[in-house]
Amino acid sequence: MNVLVVGAGYVGIVTAVCLADKGHNITCVDTDEEKVRQINSGSCPMHENGLQELLARCVSGRGTLKASSNYNGARDSEIIFLCIGTPCNSRGRIDLSYVKGAITDIGTVVAKSNNHPVVVVRSTVLPGTMEEVVIPLLEKSSRKKAGNDFSVAFNPEFLQEGKALHGFMNPDKIIIGEYDRRAGDTLEKLYHGFPAPVIRTDLRTAEMIKLASNAFLATKISFINEIGNLCKQLGVDVYQVADAIGYDPRIGRMFLNAGIGFGGSCLPKDLSALVSTAKEAGCEMKVLEAVLSVNVQQVTRMLEIARKRLGTFSNKRVAVLGLAFKPETDDVREAPAIAIIRQLLVEGATVQVYDPLAMSNAKKVLPPEVKFCKNARQAVSLSDCVLIATEWDEFKNENLYVGKLVIDGRRVLDPDKAKRVCHYEGVCW
Ligand code: NAD
Repeated sequence: MNVLVVGAGYVGIVTAVCLADKGHNITCVDTDEEKVRQINSGSCPMHENGLQELLARCVSGRGTLKASSNYNGARDSEIIFLCIGTPCNSRGRIDLSYVKGAITDIGTVVAKSNNHPVVVVRSTVLPGTMEEVVIPLLEKSSRKKAGNDFSVAFNPEFLQEGKALHGFMNPDKIIIGEYDRRAGDTLEKLYHGFPAPVIRTDLRTAEMIKLASNAFLATKISFINEIGNLCKQLGVDVYQVADAIGYDPRIGRMFLNAGIGFGGSCLPKDLSALVSTAKEAGCEMKVLEAVLSVNVQQVTRMLEIARKRLGTFSNKRVAVLGLAFKPETDDVREAPAIAIIRQLLVEGATVQVYDPLAMSNAKKVLPPEVKFCKNARQAVSLSDCVLIATEWDEFKNENLYVGKLVIDGRRVLDPDKAKRVCHYEGVCW
C-alpha cells in the first residue's frame, strides 16, 4: 500500500519504518527539515533499540521509505497516518494546534486525491476530538465529505519507548476506531498478519481506550509508590511485596517498581488532560488526581531525603545519574531527573550529570551551569551526594559509589550490597 506518515517523531518514525519493513511504500512528512534530511540519508533522528538498522535497510536497501518536508507526491496515498505531538497546555488541556495545522495540510492532499484515502489519527486525543475537530477541519480544507469521498479512523499507538519496534510488530491489541466501515476494513487489511486481536469501535470509544490505558498504568505506579512510602516507614521491603502480589494475574508485576514516579511525553500529560476534561464535564476524578499528586510527591521525597542527609544543598556538589525518563531511550520529556536538577539549582547546588543516551536532549532543556560528564564515574567523583534517577544497567555497579552518599530513586542497587560500600538510602526502601 502507499502510506503517508505525517510527523516523524517517536510514534511516526516507528510506524513508518515498521510498515516499510513489511513492504509498504512509505513517505514520511515532517516540518523539521533536519529530520527529513537525516531520514533520507539513512540515519535515525532519535534513539530507539534496533530502529537505526531497520531504517537504514528500508531507505537504502529496499527503498520502501523516504521522507519529505512537503506533500508533493503524496497524492497516491491510500492511508494517511497523523502522528503529530499533542503536548499539554498551561491549563492541563491537550494543545491541538500542531494537529490542526497538519490536518489542514492533509485536507489539501485529500482534495487532490482520486482514490478515497483513509485518514488515520495515531496521536493521543481526548474523546470527541475526531468528531468535533479533526473531521470538520478535514472536510473544510478538502471540500469533500468524510465517509463519502474519504474515510476516517482513530488508531491509537501503545508503544513503549525502548521497546517500540517489538511493540509495533507484536502488539497485544489493535484498536480501530472507525468513522465509516471502509476505514476499518482498510486498516484491518493493513494489519493483516499481525499477531493481535483487532478491536473495532466507534471513534470516541477508541479515543477513551488509549487514555484509560495510560491512566491505569500511571495508577499502578502511584499505587506502589504510596505502598512503598509506607513500607519504608514500617521496615518492609516494597520490592518483595511487589514481586509477591505481581504473581496474581489480576494484578501483574509490571509497572509496580516503586521509586520517583513516572515521566515521559504521555502519562503525565494524558492524565492531566483527562482530569481537566472531567472537571469541565462536572465529573471529579479523585483517583487520577491523587495519582498525579503522588507522582509529584515522589520527586519531592527524593530531594527531602538528600537535603536531610546533606543539611542543605547550598554549595553542595550533587551528581544526578540518569536524565531520560526511563532507560533505553534518549527522551527527557517530563523526566523526573529534569525537575530534580532544576530544584537543586534553585537551592544553590552545583550539579553534575550523566546519561548514556539522553545528554544531547537534556542539554537543550537544562541551564548552562549544569556540568555534563563523560561517564558515570566522572559525575560521581568529587560529588557530595549521588541521586540515581534512571535505572540504566551501567549504574548497577556498587563499586562506582564507594564512600559516597547515594539516594537511589529506582532501586538500581541492591540495598544490602550497596550499604556495605556507601551511605545508601532508597526513596521507598
Ligand atoms: P514527537 O514530538 O516526537 O513527534 C512529533 C513530530 O511531528 C515532530 O517530528 C514534529 O517536527 C512533527 N510536526 C509537528 N508539526 C507538524 C506538521 N504540521 N506537519 C508535519 N510534521 C509536524 O511526538 P511523539 O512522541 O511521536 O508523539 C506523537 C503522538 O503520539 C502524541 O499524541 C503522543 O501523545 C502519542 N503517543 C506517543 C508515544 C510515545 O511513547 N512517544 C506513545 C503512544 C502515543
